Amino acid sequence: MLSDNITYGPVPSRRLGRSLGVNNIHAKCCSYSCLYCQVGSTLGTSVKRRCFQEPIMLGRAVKERLDSARQSGDQVDYLSFVPDGEPTLDKNLGREIELLKALGVKIAVITNASLIWDEGVRQSLAKADWVSLKVDSVKTDTWTRMNRPHNTLKLEDILDGITVFARQYKGSLNFETMLVEGVNDSMNEFEEIASFVYGAKPAKCYLGIPTRPPAEKIGPAGENALVSAFNVFACICKTAFICFTTHLWCRYNAWCREWFSYIAVCC
Ligand code: SF4
Repeated sequence: MLSDNITYGPVPSRRLGRSLGVNNIHAKCCSYSCLYCQVGSTLGTSVKRRCFQEPIMLGRAVKERLDSARQSGDQVDYLSFVPDGEPTLDKNLGREIELLKALGVKIAVITNASLIWDEGVRQSLAKADWVSLKVDSVKTDTWTRMNRPHNTLKLEDILDGITVFARQYKGSLNFETMLVEGVNDSMNEFEEIASFVYGAKPAKCYLGIPTRPPAEKIGPAGENALVSAFNVFACICKTAFICFTTHLWCRYNAWCREWFSYIAVCC
């Protein structure tokens, strides 16, 4: 099947309903090499945008998978660019979104935002209906330690790019922050991230903890830190959602029950 390498799902997603995944880049092609990456360390980070496949081929593959899902009665709420790497490294992202829009399903892009200082990237993302940007820290030393960015990237440029994008973007703008024990799990980090994100008028802020085996030996932020982060984001941004997978749900279940009327927990 043409669609096998380019698409997957549809899979259930707490954020996006039934999501048909679009894999528009090669595996583990990324501008970051995050400590917590669940697909392993990046072998040579890259910031060079390039063509990975013909947009027409990608469009055909997605249509094939969508038709097959519809024929078996499977609902698809979003076509989601969530590859094992950074989707904005694909120079054709904007064209691909335009092609996929003709299929009549909303488009989502989950990006690490590292290239958003580039106007071409902002223009591509602007075509999507739902965008999620990663902000793990607004402090250069923490960002460098946590995301291990390509050596040409500058956090200041990325934050400026996010601010410009947020002013122009008409769709649903969401943020996600991964919380790692001993790296970005302090009150000061939470307050600074939340204050920055608040300025971008987020639709939703998602807080995550690493659950699947990460690239390095690191641990998820503890329960107290997670509660504090939730409180800070809820207070400053007026929106906070906690994401983690089922086995962590069990570990955190006790306090989740207490907080359940206030928070949404997503996988
Ligand atoms: S941005 Fe995503 S794919 Fe890239 S290293 Fe970080 S977690 Fe992995």
